[in-house]
Amino acid sequence: MNEKVRCLIIGSGPAGYTAAIYASRANLNPVLYEGMEPGGQLTTTTEVENFPGYPNGITGPELMVDLKKQAERFGTDVRFGAATATDLTSSPYKVTIDGEKIIETDTIIISTGATAKYLGLPDEQKYAGSGVSACATCDGFFYRKLTVAVVGGGDTACEEASYLAGLAAKVYIIVRKKELRASKIMQERVFKNPKIEVLFEHETLGLTGEGVVQGANLVKRKGQTDEKQIHIDIDGFFLAIGHTPNSGIFKPWIETDEVGYIITNPGTPRTNLAGIFAAGDVADPHYRQAITAAGTGCQAAIEAERYLSEKGL
Ligand code: NDP
Repeated sequence: MNEKVRCLIIGSGPAGYTAAIYASRANLNPVLYEGMEPGGQLTTTTEVENFPGYPNGITGPELMVDLKKQAERFGTDVRFGAATATDLTSSPYKVTIDGEKIIETDTIIISTGATAKYLGLPDEQKYAGSGVSACATCDGFFYRKLTVAVVGGGDTACEEASYLAGLAAKVYIIVRKKELRASKIMQERVFKNPKIEVLFEHETLGLTGEGVVQGANLVKRKGQTDEKQIHIDIDGFFLAIGHTPNSGIFKPWIETDEVGYIITNPGTPRTNLAGIFAAGDVADPHYRQAITAAGTGCQAAIEAERYLSEKGL
């Protein structure tokens, strides 16, 4: 038999756990499924220094353990498992967990986050954890006084390159176009930094190295008459080419933008379906911060509570 709940929270990052704290304190008896990456993106970071309330910083994993404990303290039923399919044609909505169990629910808080994009080169898998990373703030520390490359031309790439330049001896930025997409201020910061060299119109063909990354093969002006292949010696290869919001299983019903970010009513976590709310990075292409995710998680739980009481559910 299907299980029926009043409030289902999908995802266990700062958005999901904050929603859980508020929903459980409002007696919604929420069930939270942790998803594929319990604790979310923050579990892959080291020090978090910008989450208010921690003057000395806290590690990402510790912060997530604390948030989970706080949600459980008020009665959230935190479960291991991932939502794998949905049927949102009518309320109560149906969510399949791990391809088997179906949960029926009056409200859903979608807090499934976003995942860093990779180029799709086999070498990214080959050197995963051995020189390839999608998070400079997590792994930059290992590259002190070494040489690294950052792929991408947006704000993330510039920010990560500037961060890495504070640790590494040299930082390349590999940009496929003739220009950076990043904001002017970030571009200036990059161009002014003597440790950073921007390789415009370059694409990565593959990585080299015995067990760990030691170099990258690049192509300049691919497809042009003056196309040229070059090799750079590097110790680390950082991806900063954007994120994919984890909204796939909701897409047939829930409106998203062209990238896949869930569209919410401005200033609220409401989606196009009554009783379904989106919080955190899955609906946020702009800020993508732990504290903004937590804030929208709080909003989503308050909205869920109001929806349930208005409907008398
Ligand atoms: P963006 O989508 O802005 O930029 C992605 C970059 O990666 C682009 O330069 C793009 O190239 C490049 N890229 C994408 N796919 C490939 C590929 N297959 N091969 C090579 N290059 C590729 O993502 P960001 O993560 O940088 O930023 C996302 C949002 O977050 C933006 O709105 C940004 O402004 C914001 N942000 C703000 C920050 C701040 O203000 N401090 C910090 C970080 C992010 P191309 O230009 O050719 O398409």
